[in-house]
Amino acid sequence: MTLRRFSFIYSICLMCIFSALLIGYRYYFEYPQILQRIVMLQTRELHAVDIMIDQQLQQLAISNYDYAVWDESYEFIQYPTRAFITENFLDDTFTSLKIDGAIFVGKNKKIQWERGFDYVEKRALSVEPLDVVTAEIVNITYPTSSQTDAVPQKMGFISTNYGPVMFASSQLRQSDRSGQQVGMLLFIRKVRLSLIHQLADFSQLSITQGDINAQQNIDHIPDISAPIGDAAFSLTRQRVIKDITGKAIIILNIRHINNDPPPFFNHTLQIILVVLITIPFILQWIVNLMFIRPITIGITNIVNMIYRGELTPLKGESNILEIQKLITSFNQLVNIVNQQKEDLEVLALKDALTGIANRRAFENHLSLSWSLTQRNALPLAIVMVDIDFFKHYNDNLGHQAGDAAIQQVATTLSQHLVRNDDMVARYGGEEFAIILINTDISHVQSMMSRLLLAVRHLAISHPGSSVSSHLTISLGAAVTTQFECTSVDELLLHADQALYQAKSAGRNNAMLWGS
Ligand code: GH3
Ligand code: MG
Ligand code: MG
Repeated sequence: MTLRRFSFIYSICLMCIFSALLIGYRYYFEYPQILQRIVMLQTRELHAVDIMIDQQLQQLAISNYDYAVWDESYEFIQYPTRAFITENFLDDTFTSLKIDGAIFVGKNKKIQWERGFDYVEKRALSVEPLDVVTAEIVNITYPTSSQTDAVPQKMGFISTNYGPVMFASSQLRQSDRSGQQVGMLLFIRKVRLSLIHQLADFSQLSITQGDINAQQNIDHIPDISAPIGDAAFSLTRQRVIKDITGKAIIILNIRHINNDPPPFFNHTLQIILVVLITIPFILQWIVNLMFIRPITIGITNIVNMIYRGELTPLKGESNILEIQKLITSFNQLVNIVNQQKEDLEVLALKDALTGIANRRAFENHLSLSWSLTQRNALPLAIVMVDIDFFKHYNDNLGHQAGDAAIQQVATTLSQHLVRNDDMVARYGGEEFAIILINTDISHVQSMMSRLLLAVRHLAISHPGSSVSSHLTISLGAAVTTQFECTSVDELLLHADQALYQAKSAGRNNAMLWGS
């Protein structure tokens, strides 16, 4: 796997992990808390409905109490008179009290007097006398109490032939709340659509009344006063209003209109997600720019160097310390290797014993010199030098002394060659070869004479020599101007032949080919 691909996959993984963590946090922690807060607000809204219903009942109960705890009502139940009714229970009375029915019930729970009047439509209820209040209803609504000083009261909802109604009942008493149990006064108020609207306005909810008959399974629907509790978040709920016996009589279909939950992927989450997705890629881009790119370029350069077989320093620079160190170290290594290569090349062209050029260097230089002199029509000379009776020298003085003598001769020969283009090389054993460029015959001859003398003047004792008591050399030279020279080999051959002639002529002398 490449570094680039690895960093890409790594970025993708980081992105997935970050996103999963964020969405997980939103899903498991943040969002449920938001919903919980909304459910709390919804609880308050439902509570407002409950309070409103309670207020309505309280209002009804207060009016009912006022009429029940009143000397005239107290008297009426015992001594009923038409005048009491015509004076006190006019149509307007119903309208101002906002009641649809008033019922006087005697001590024996028998209805003494009753009247139904739709205070909204301002007409007497169709069924006269009011048959909505059955004996059972009287029984249910009849207020009783063990306390003697307080006026027993009841209020709530009951189901009638007219549908659900609100009721309030109080025992009849004298105005100072004294008196015997002589009966009760019952007020009823129909549950109208306006009540539902009032509840909706007060609680800021959308409320409609459900069809109680069509609703299956109403037992599981909570009462309007029941808290939401741990119920799951919902925008719509059903609640029931129960009558005084605990039976559900009104279904309220409620919709919370002000508490829509925020979208799961809200703007903040979207922005954070985009940032989280972008950050790994920006990081990858930076890593690519700062690390991967320099490394890739470096690797490509090194591969090219291997391909060319030539080491060159890397040019790039990096702000990253480690990468810069790697480049610097690599360049230092390249310099060391190149230096060693140069040294090796030099060593490969040097004679180990004498330090002068070896035969390989001689052949290279000869080939170059041949081209140069041929191109410029210059003379080229080769001088072959051989130590005389050197075998005897070794035999007499030992091999080490022989080496030292070879070194001395080599040094002497090279000291006499001052021009840059000239070269003296150890040709092999005790034999040397000299290249002289642009040197005419007379100069070659004088050079040979100087060399002959110089070696003689070294005065190296040579007991085994037949020509001198000191070490001597023989020289043979060939110059391109001296004959029709067609190749460098021919020139070399003639120089060798000239040396052979010098040896044959007794050694310790110099010969020029062709003269
Ligand atoms: P000539 O005058 O005909 O050249 O006789 P010569 O003895 O010099 O020539 P020959 O070719 O018979 O012997 C050359 C000797 O040079 C043989 C060898 O022992 C000696 N020699 C060659 N290379 C070295 C070297 O590197 N060191 C030493 N000490 N001796 C060497
Ligand atoms: Mg020899
Ligand atoms: Mg020799």
